[in-house]
Amino acid sequence: MINCLCCGAPPERSEPVITTPAHMSHETSETYTFVRCGSCGLTYLNPPVPPEELGRFYPDYYLPYRGPSAWGRYAPVAARGQAMTDRKRVRRVGRHVKAAPSRRWRVLDVGCGHPTFLRSLVDRFPDIDATGIDFVDTGWRDEPRNWQGITLIQSDPAEFTAQEPWDVITMWHYLEHDYHPVETLVRLREMAHQGTRLLVEVPDLESLSRRWYGPAWEGWHAPRHTAIYSGGTLAETLRRSGWEVVNRTTRGTLDTFALWWMSAMERRGIDWTASMESRFLPFMTGRILTAPVFALEGIVPLGVQLVEARPQTR
Ligand SMILES: [Zn+2]
Repeated sequence: MINCLCCGAPPERSEPVITTPAHMSHETSETYTFVRCGSCGLTYLNPPVPPEELGRFYPDYYLPYRGPSAWGRYAPVAARGQAMTDRKRVRRVGRHVKAAPSRRWRVLDVGCGHPTFLRSLVDRFPDIDATGIDFVDTGWRDEPRNWQGITLIQSDPAEFTAQEPWDVITMWHYLEHDYHPVETLVRLREMAHQGTRLLVEVPDLESLSRRWYGPAWEGWHAPRHTAIYSGGTLAETLRRSGWEVVNRTTRGTLDTFALWWMSAMERRGIDWTASMESRFLPFMTGRILTAPVFALEGIVPLGVQLVEARPQTR
């Protein structure tokens, strides 16, 4: 058992919240328990899977790894979904860049994975000095030509250093995977200046999709997610790391309908190793029918949250 990832309180001071199977996986029948810290309120996985054993939860059939090809002949349409997410992310960062376009902006993406967001960012703003870091280089090492003009570094974020501070730091669904979120955020604070903006997007513990789907909610993504943040515990984790929240929205960049759909498939117990081709038309029909509901995601918390933070002033 581990201590709370936010405040360090011992596990005896926590209470179980939910026990789930491994999501999007057929590797094990083990279950995983998330607990709520009695001291700061953070919901975190305890015990977590040792990081060195996590590899078996990222098999070749892992849906995000299969990318658009998982959807068979509908792959081109599925590819547009990722492109749309990247566009939203570029627009969000672009808000800052456009405010002072003459500067050479330094942007760091933590947990960049397959760095399509940075590719879109540099294509849109060629003068940006863009860097991505990740624990493994599998997201970019096979196609170096796709990533020209972007600096990509294999590193643990908690051990990463830079010569100059960053202007914008992004974490798109990274923090919920971090085993030491406070250490990582403190390290990033050391690489910030007073005007630096940190954008953090994570699943929202208080969202309707979590309440609706219970243990099948894909936001748990057990055992890959180490903590599931509410608006309050995310702000507290940032505060303990030297950051303060500037604004928060439940309209993120991730496709919230896809989160609902994956949760529904989890509840149904589908075969995640199979092709998703036959599921494409029901997926699109569901998306169209529920579009009016998902248009409300900035008002109603449907699945994710996006927080902008700045260094604390003291
Ligand atoms: Zn705590």
